Amino acid sequence: MNDKDSTIELENINEFYKFLQGEIPKSIKMTKKSRPNLTKEQAFSVIWFLQEHMQVLPERFEYCNGCQRMFDTHDEGYSVYRGRLYGDECCNGGRK
Ligand SMILES: [Zn+2]
Repeated sequence: MNDKDSTIELENINEFYKFLQGEIPKSIKMTKKSRPNLTKEQAFSVIWFLQEHMQVLPERFEYCNGCQRMFDTHDEGYSVYRGRLYGDECCNGGRK
């Protein structure tokens, strides 16, 4: 997806990220059995698939392997350290 065409914000990504871990938005009714129950790393794998393979989510949202949060690379810097991506602001690019 071309990031310029997207109205998807970090807030939306975080809502989906939490949804995949079983935290369902109040506006949605879903039985416990139906709720996803992924780890943070697995949840990011789903987001990554939708970004890179399906191209339905903007690629600018990244996952910090240090503190396992999603962030917007248009707002924050990042570094790849030993093959894994880290936020510069939260985890000093993996160097701390
Ligand atoms: Zn971090």
